[in-house]
Amino acid sequence: MLVMKFGGSSVADAARIRHVAEIVRNRLNRKPVVVLSAMGDTTDHLIEAAEKAMSEGPVSVETSLEKISATHLFALQKLGLSKMFTPELRELLSELASLLSGISLIKELTAKTRDYLVSFGERLSVRVAARYFSAIGINARAVDSWDAGFISDSNFTRAELLPESWEAIPRALLPLVEGGVVPVVTGFIAKDANGVITTLGRGGSDLSATMIASACKAEEAQVWKDVDGILTADPRIVPNARLVRAVTYEEASELAFFGSQVLHPRAMQPCGKTCTPVIVKNSYHPEVEGSVISPTLPPGSQTVRAITTRSNVTLVDIVSSRMVGQYGFLAEVFSTFAEHKISVDMVATSEVSVSLTLDTEYDIAAVKRDLSRIAHVEVKTNKAIVTIIGLVNRSSVILESAFGVCSSLGVQTQMVSQGASKVNISFIVDGDEAGTVVRGLHKKFFEG
Ligand code: ASP
Ligand code: MG
Repeated sequence: MLVMKFGGSSVADAARIRHVAEIVRNRLNRKPVVVLSAMGDTTDHLIEAAEKAMSEGPVSVETSLEKISATHLFALQKLGLSKMFTPELRELLSELASLLSGISLIKELTAKTRDYLVSFGERLSVRVAARYFSAIGINARAVDSWDAGFISDSNFTRAELLPESWEAIPRALLPLVEGGVVPVVTGFIAKDANGVITTLGRGGSDLSATMIASACKAEEAQVWKDVDGILTADPRIVPNARLVRAVTYEEASELAFFGSQVLHPRAMQPCGKTCTPVIVKNSYHPEVEGSVISPTLPPGSQTVRAITTRSNVTLVDIVSSRMVGQYGFLAEVFSTFAEHKISVDMVATSEVSVSLTLDTEYDIAAVKRDLSRIAHVEVKTNKAIVTIIGLVNRSSVILESAFGVCSSLGVQTQMVSQGASKVNISFIVDGDEAGTVVRGLHKKFFEG
């Protein structure tokens, strides 16, 4: 069995859906399960529709609905399927219309309602695609993920799948697959134990696919994107970035967090349990091998896998002589951040100081005031984290080269962190220097 996930841009219109259908049809002998995102930017359009409903009231609903209907109806027509919606699709759209009217009247959008609202994107896309698959002779069936065993907690907008899902998913899907059906499953969404719709977080259909693959013990999960795979750097920064053929789950999670948009950061979690490989492939170029994410690297892998950067970072420097030989100081510092619900990313400490980073979007005036009671606090904004993902047992070589590159560029590194066992070496530079540093490092590690 094979799980194939296609993101929003891969199913954005009729031409792309035709193309996806061909990719699936060529792999029918491997028993595919297909997982889809909402068509194109439908998820964003749904959220915009709700925002308009709240600001402009009921008059906005019809226009918003028109836009969302048009994407799907136009695709159906272009696929030569029908000039009208099927009763099933019509029913979904009228439910969506009622929901938007409701939002326009009560002018409120809770996390729970928002999840219910965006679920229409995936529910519509699997029905359009499955209908076309069937029309060209694939024995396909649209399946809502709650009918495929996806049970989550009630943490709306970022729900976690419950352990029951591990048994419920194969129970629901394996009989279909064994019966020769190609299930076309909604990514991103689930239901909680009370039957209320939830979502797994933006970009969450990657996780839906890896969960199905792991729970059903599939041969592999294929995540089809519009890039060749995981690249050595962001191609917008480094135009000649290269394809990375193999990375570990750990490296892939680090890459996802530190700025690379290739995979959802949590998508690796289920595969780690079952050692199911994840292959990232390009739906525009199916012949390109793509990147393989698996528990271990093939022998002879390069020292450095990739270089990423994360911008809009704030650096907080906390200095206090009270720290010397004391216990509890770090606990006090971190509990202050926890109280203000601020997530800290990088940390480095010395005997008299703690430096840490967080996203600039946090307002840290209150934290600064609290911390100033115990230490001298300095806050610097507009920084960037540059991260090198590579083999930890070669870290001395990596650090030496990295600092060599920075000093030859005249760039001052402002904080450095490297774990004892982890694959990630990160340092802070000024935001406007990050691009130059990434290009310099890329040259050093990958271009000769
Ligand atoms: N459609 C959802 C989103 O845009 C989920 C996904 O694409 O994975 O975030
Ligand atoms: Mg999407």
